[in-house]
Amino acid sequence: MTIRSLEYDYIVIGSGAGGGIVFDELKKKNKNVLLIEKGPHVKSENLKKQFYYSLKNIWKYSGYQHASGNISLPVLQGVSLGGSTTINGSIMQDLEESFCNKIIFETNIKNKNFRFDNLMNYQKELSNEFNIKSGSKEFLKDNNLSKEVERRNWKCDLSKRAVSDINYKGRSLSGNSIENIILRKYQGLNILTNTDVKQIINEKNRILGVECFDKLKRKNFFIKVNKKLVISCGAIESSKLLLKSKIKNKNLGKKFSCHLSGAVDALFSKDKKEIEGSLNAIEITTNDRFCRKFANQNVPDEIILSRIPFQNEDNLQSKLSKISSWVYNVSSKNNGYISKNFFDYKLKFNIETEEFEKVKKFIKQISEFLFNLGAVNVFPNVINKNNLTKNIKETQNLLNKIETKDLLLTASHLFGTCCIGKDENSGVIDENFKVFNYDNLFVVDSSIFPFPTSYNPQLTIMIYAKLASDIIINE
Ligand SMILES: Cc1cc2nc3c(=O)[nH]c(=O)nc-3n(C[C@H](O)[C@H](O)[C@H](O)COP(=O)(O)OP(=O)(O)OC[C@H]3O[C@@H](n4cnc5c(N)ncnc54)[C@H](O)[C@@H]3O)c2cc1C
Repeated sequence: MTIRSLEYDYIVIGSGAGGGIVFDELKKKNKNVLLIEKGPHVKSENLKKQFYYSLKNIWKYSGYQHASGNISLPVLQGVSLGGSTTINGSIMQDLEESFCNKIIFETNIKNKNFRFDNLMNYQKELSNEFNIKSGSKEFLKDNNLSKEVERRNWKCDLSKRAVSDINYKGRSLSGNSIENIILRKYQGLNILTNTDVKQIINEKNRILGVECFDKLKRKNFFIKVNKKLVISCGAIESSKLLLKSKIKNKNLGKKFSCHLSGAVDALFSKDKKEIEGSLNAIEITTNDRFCRKFANQNVPDEIILSRIPFQNEDNLQSKLSKISSWVYNVSSKNNGYISKNFFDYKLKFNIETEEFEKVKKFIKQISEFLFNLGAVNVFPNVINKNNLTKNIKETQNLLNKIETKDLLLTASHLFGTCCIGKDENSGVIDENFKVFNYDNLFVVDSSIFPFPTSYNPQLTIMIYAKLASDIIINE
């Protein structure tokens, strides 16, 4: 990575879905900008099939970060050039009008740039830049899966991904990351990796620069910012950095929300054909407002195996090719928050009864669907109890018995902690993405959203990052 100076007009901290886009947009306009990233630069193709390498090197705390409350919730984030997009499923879901309207309504934003039709122009640009498409729909026609979906009046589709990029041809999960499509073209120029920004230095509400730690040389150093500083460290981390830097705002660290994500696995007997083809990124949209989408999941066998209560491995191996795994997301409320203890800042999060009931409802819907397709066993995402169920009655009995702590949920779609609001009493940033009361400090990433999307958020984060870049450049 190359750095030519210790003084820049613009500095962007964090290189994920938010920061990667802002850096690219500033570069396109020939701005003197530096991108700082805490994690290493690991090229996407090197991650292929190296799951444990990637866990160790580019997952935050090797995937062990969690929120504490009435449920122990693993909270997943990436730490590498490309941020969480390097470890994510690369599923791109379209911006929804209802989400944009809710942002406008709840924050009372008057700026017409926030309107759905304007934001859709950014989506169009991104779709071209990332070549976002879904695969062939051929196999979805007239199979048992699509018939079962139709019978329920649901919708069956193939997920959209970025299908090509500058150097890496073909589709892989990480091949679609911001690193691969956006950042690699700069060949490290003006990109500083393995560099942890420890503190933002400000004087009389103007940011002067950032105090950094070079993780390889183990040295502290300072970089001056002449014009604007953009924080894009992601939900949780952006607010932690601002809190550590003693930026004053009473909403910092508040309104954390996420998708409560779980997986329902099913075992089909070898001769059954019903789920043939289902490893091709199928997305199913239900007609339930809260339990909306679930999708088949492509994760290493070890992960799926760890969720299934079999002792006899030989028996399992012979059945392995017929395991089908489906993941769902339920939007949480926004009452998580960052709290300070003696050593660090921690994330607190409690799952509410209403959310718990929604999760159970979704598990039941998916289980029913899988049994109807001919599943022999369905394994809901329940721990502490035997989760092998042979029919929907058994699934329902299991769900009746569980408490929140028995659910095996994770959160990897994170929102909030530096939310947009109409004034400093309700938010951290204003409609220009600027931190209230600071001249040249901006936040652009998933932390700005005061509530979750009801769908996968990466494309939405990138769309708002494009809007923010235009504002930051033209302001
Ligand atoms: C396992 C997983 C699967 C997912 N799958 C999907 C999917 O299929 N589709 C979808 O739409 N979304 C998916 N997501 C969510 C999506 O990846 C995130 O919502 C999105 O990447 C968040 O963007 P961001 O810019 O807010 O933060 P991030 O992408 O997390 O980027 C933040 C970056 O800031 C860096 N950083 C933090 N603190 C500092 C500091 N002090 N100094 C320097 N750098 C710092 C971090 O290292 C990180 O690289 C998934 C996420 C995960 C974890």
